[in-house]
Amino acid sequence: MILEARDLEYRYEDGTLALDRASLAIRGHEKLAILGANGAGKSTLLSLLNGSLRPSAGKVLLNGGPVAYSRKALTELRSQVGLVLQDPDDQLFAATVFEDVSFGPLNLGLSVAEARVRVSDALDAIGIAPLSHRPTHLLSFGQRKRVAIAGVLAMSPSVLLLDEPTAGLDPAGVEDLTETLHALAAQGVAVVVATHDMDMTYAWADRVAVFAKGKILIEDTPDKLFGME
Ligand code: ADP
Ligand code: ADP
Repeated sequence: MILEARDLEYRYEDGTLALDRASLAIRGHEKLAILGANGAGKSTLLSLLNGSLRPSAGKVLLNGGPVAYSRKALTELRSQVGLVLQDPDDQLFAATVFEDVSFGPLNLGLSVAEARVRVSDALDAIGIAPLSHRPTHLLSFGQRKRVAIAGVLAMSPSVLLLDEPTAGLDPAGVEDLTETLHALAAQGVAVVVATHDMDMTYAWADRVAVFAKGKILIEDTPDKLFGME
């Protein structure tokens, strides 16, 4: 298992219990969909899995070892586990696409030359190399969404977490994204998508985890879960 949530609890400051002993194990290069209604706790779980939030109880394990929440352990977790937020405007800050996608690799301490290679590979992987020098604020929603994904990919994560990646995309955008996520998994990245999109889940996922009220209720293949087998 590359990444594991073990009995995670998370309580927000106002007392809301968003995760109630949620457990989930993520295997290398699998395509996992996390399904669940609004408020089920999917976004909270993703934030805990990349260390943006720290659990109130329970453990996150990276490559079998519990995350210690030291600065060093968090840097390691965030470099291996990339999170793409639902709204790209929550994660795009630089003036141009190139600068935005460079931010992660430079922040990891790579040289400008190394970062440049990472950026160009990530832009190619997501099919937006021609947008490299465009100002991000002039791009369409779908394009900004791709820039956000490229920015995370440029950190070369072993696990890519995406929160509602198809929300707001048109059918062609969904199809492109689905292909990109297939290709990334084929290259060995574990891809985890939190979604309400049943069509994408059925067409894309190897495994589905159904989430409700802060915990995983069922895990299975899409065929078994949707009653096709
Ligand atoms: P999902 O991604 O499945 O829609 P979330 O993880 O966003 O679910 O939310 C889980 C629960 O935590 C919900 O009850 C939600 O209202 C609550 N919640 C989310 N963010 C906050 C916050 N910042 N403060 C308080 N409660 C929150
Ligand atoms: P593209 O041209 O890359 O497909 P568009 O900007 O045309 O992207 O938007 C694609 C879809 O996303 C449209 O249906 C649009 O209504 C929707 N959309 C655009 N901006 C947002 C946003 N900020 N939040 C949610 N949906 C959005």
